Amino acid sequence: MKKVLIIGAGPVGLTTGRLLAEEGYQVDLFERRDHIGGNCFDYHSAAGLLCHKYGPHYFRTNSDELLAWLSQFSDWIPANYHVRAKVQDKFVPLPISLATVEALKGRTFSVEEFEHYLAQERVAIEHPQNAEEQCLATVGRELYEAIFKGYTEKQWGISAKELLPSITARIPLRFNRDIRYPSEKHQVMPAQGYTYLFKNMADHSRLSIKLNQEFCLSDVRAVESAYEFVICSGQLDQFFEYQKGKLPYRSLRFEEKISESEFVQENVQINYPNDFDYTRTVEIKHVTGQQHPLTSVVYEYAQAEGEAFYPILSLESLALCDQYRELARQEERAQCPIYFLGRLAEYRYFNMDHVFLRSIKLVNQLLNKEIVKV
Ligand code: UDP
Repeated sequence: MKKVLIIGAGPVGLTTGRLLAEEGYQVDLFERRDHIGGNCFDYHSAAGLLCHKYGPHYFRTNSDELLAWLSQFSDWIPANYHVRAKVQDKFVPLPISLATVEALKGRTFSVEEFEHYLAQERVAIEHPQNAEEQCLATVGRELYEAIFKGYTEKQWGISAKELLPSITARIPLRFNRDIRYPSEKHQVMPAQGYTYLFKNMADHSRLSIKLNQEFCLSDVRAVESAYEFVICSGQLDQFFEYQKGKLPYRSLRFEEKISESEFVQENVQINYPNDFDYTRTVEIKHVTGQQHPLTSVVYEYAQAEGEAFYPILSLESLALCDQYRELARQEERAQCPIYFLGRLAEYRYFNMDHVFLRSIKLVNQLLNKEIVKV
C-alpha cells in the first residue's frame, strides 16, 4: 500500500491526511502536541465553557466549494465577528468604515465627507514599503495613530516601519456601515467547535495519528524509504534544525477571567491600540453561540517566547526565510519529496480558509486529479 508521512495535525495535516486516506493511501500523521487541531484547538473547561485555547479563530471564506467539503465534518452556525477598538473612551467598530469615523468624531459622515476627510489625511506614498506607510497612504495619520500604530507595535514587538505593508493591508477600508470584521461571503463557526470538526476529519481507517511526537528533518531521513512523500506543516526553522538560524515568530500569552454573567463585553473582540499591555480581550461566547451561565474573557498579550503563532514578516526575516525556502525547494525535488504547507511551514500569514484551500489544491496536484473542486 502507498504510504505518506504527514507532520502536524492542524488544518493542513488533517485536510491532506483525510483526502489521501480516502484515495487509498495509508497516512501516518505525527503531532508534537497532545491534541489535534493545531492552533484552532478548542475545548470545554471544567465549568463546561467552550474555549479557544490558542486565541480566537474566526472561520470565513468566499469559497462555496470549501464550505461544502468541510460540511461533511460539521454543521455551522452564523457568526457575528464584531471587533471594536477602544480609542480614548470610545469603542469604535473595525475595520475602518463610515461607522468608525462617526463613532470617533461623534457625528454622521456621508461617503463624500469621508472621502474628503481621507483625502486631507492621507500621505501621498505611491508604493508603501512598510506597514506604517501602508496605513498613512490608506487611512492617513490620525486613524493610523488612533488605531494601528500602538496595536501593531504591541502585537509585533517592532516598529510598524519594519513590518511588511501586507500585514496592515489585511484590514479593509469600507465606504459603508458594515461592521462585520471580515468581508468574506461566508462567516460561520463550526456548531460543535473546531476540535469536533477536526476529530471527524481524522476519523478514517487509513489515517493513523500519533500524538506527542516531534518530527524534524533527521527523523524524516530515518524513515523516508517507507514513504512515497512527506507533507510538513510544522515550524520551518525547527524542521531544518535551525541550520540557518532562528526565524522570528510571534507568540501570545493568555489570561482568562471567568465571570458569573451571560456576557461581559458588547461584542466578541475589543482591541486596545493605546491602553494596557494586552492587545485585545476576547469573549468567545459571542460567536460560539453557547448558552451558559458563566462567561470567559481572555486577555491577550503578545510576546517573543513561547509557541509560534504568527510569522513576523519584515524585510529582515524574509531574507532569512528565503534561505529556508531554498532548503525547502531542494526537499521538494528529492526522491522522497517533502512538501511544506501552512502558516508556520511556509512562513506566511494565511487565514484558515486559505490553509484548507491550499491543502486541497496540493493533494489535487500531487494526485493529478481534481478530488475536490476548489
Ligand atoms: N491592526 C491594528 N489595529 C487593530 C487591528 C489590526 O493595528 O485594531 C493591525 C495589526 O498590525 C495586526 C494586523 O493589523 O497585526 C492584522 O490584524 P488582524 O486582525 O488580521 O490580526 P489577527 O486577528 O490575525 O491577529
